[in-house]
Parts: sequence; C-alpha cells; structure tokens
Amino acid sequence: MSITAVALESASPLPCESDLQLLFSALNVAHFGGMLPGYRIVYNARLTSVAGRIAYKPPLIELSSSLLAAHPDHVEATMLHEMVHAWLHLNRLPSGHGMQFKRKMREVGLGSIYHSMPVGSRRSRRRYVLSCPRCKVELLRRQRPGSAVSCARCSPSRFNRRVQMAVREL
Ligand SMILES: [Zn+2]
Ligand SMILES: [Zn+2]
Repeated sequence: MSITAVALESASPLPCESDLQLLFSALNVAHFGGMLPGYRIVYNARLTSVAGRIAYKPPLIELSSSLLAAHPDHVEATMLHEMVHAWLHLNRLPSGHGMQFKRKMREVGLGSIYHSMPVGSRRSRRRYVLSCPRCKVELLRRQRPGSAVSCARCSPSRFNRRVQMAVREL
C-alpha cells in the first residue's frame, strides 16, 4: 500500500480523522524511523490563516479543513510539514523554518516550506518575473523555474547562458 493511498481512498474530498492517524503513522515510519511520538490529528474548520499547525503539549496537529477541502491533494504534504516541526522538537533543534527545517524537508521530499501557508494566498500571490538581459522581454510565471532558462526569443533552439533569464520574485 502506498502512503498516498491512505489519503485518497475516501469518498469525501478529505480523509476522515482515523485515516489521518494512519497517514501519520505511515509517514512516521517512512521518513522518521517511527521515532515521532503519537500526535492527535484533527481538523479545525476555523483555522484559516494556515493549512496546518502543531502544538507539542499535548501533542496535536491541526489541519484546516476549510482550506484543504479545496486542495485535498495537499493533505499529505501539509501533514509532513508539521511532522518536520515535530521532528525538530523531538531532537531539540531550533523551531521555525531555518536551515535544519529545510534540510529535513528536502530529506522527506517536500518541495517548499509553503505548505503551512494559506493555500489560497499561496496560489494567488506568488509570482516570478523572468527577464532577458539582452532583449529585456519580461515573462510572468507562477512558479520559479526549476533550472536555468534562457530567452526563447534570443535563443529559440537551445539554452544560451548569455541570455539566461534573470528571475526575481514579485
Ligand atoms: Zn511550518
Ligand atoms: Zn531575449
């Protein structure tokens, strides 16, 4: 059984809370050697500023059912994000989204720290401008390019470092 199957095998858009508990256990084994202590996982419909949040005493992970209902595919990543916080706490490492967080985040396969951010605003707000140093064309992108890209107008057929697009976040 794959880990995501736990989250997806459900008629409602969101997995029920007992499935969340199973997902937590599966992720705990897969990425944390089963070392994380048990956390209670609950939905909180009034939580709208972030998709997920964590408390340590008592151990509790809350997921925003209102934000995640529109993005059920984000449930696993949101949970995993909170579990990275749980792992930092367990190992008495600095909390927050610092270096240790990012290192562990990459280890568990999370692409960005933004899973704890409001899903809606993350979608609407993040913008990147790609600009060509030669012809000055500017392109608006919702995602930062995964690798270096060059200007398609100045160098249509192949990558050309001399017209590599500069990327800045809006
Ligand atoms: Zn976080
Ligand atoms: Zn150009």
